Amino acid sequence: MTLKAAYDPDNIFARILRGEIPSVKIWEDEHVLAFMDVFPQSEGHVLLISKTSTARNLLEVEADTLARLTEATRRTARAVDRALNPEGFQIMQLNGDAGGQTVFHLHVHIIPRWADRPMKGHGHAPMADTETLRGLADRIAAALD
Ligand code: AMP
Repeated sequence: MTLKAAYDPDNIFARILRGEIPSVKIWEDEHVLAFMDVFPQSEGHVLLISKTSTARNLLEVEADTLARLTEATRRTARAVDRALNPEGFQIMQLNGDAGGQTVFHLHVHIIPRWADRPMKGHGHAPMADTETLRGLADRIAAALD
């Protein structure tokens, strides 16, 4: 999928937003959904998406959508920090398949990091079980301000 293709309304995240496939939610409001990545590259790998925009990537996103997503990322990263106490974290946002993007609905990754725990490769991490993800999501949600 190039940077310039049309939005596919049946992409996985659009289907999650319509409730057609399940997700492990952390929090949501009318603009943003934060949920657990099912193929976590580290413990506590979170995804944030706009609930209203059909931007596929950073080139297409509206300024107000990006502002909301950025603030949601900051708020959620603070909760991840309080809940999981990582030594660092990565914010990742991939664009186009040559850029490593695999789901073409704009999203931001929060990937907690610990110096002694190698990060799993993007697209190579095993699927996590729902119970484990639910436990992490509940801990992060409890730490939100
Ligand atoms: P990207 O490659 O940047 O487009 O990221 C897409 C992310 O979505 C990857 O990290 C996948 O592990 C994750 N992912 C794929 N399917 C699902 C799903 N059903 N629920 C949660 N995360 C997913």
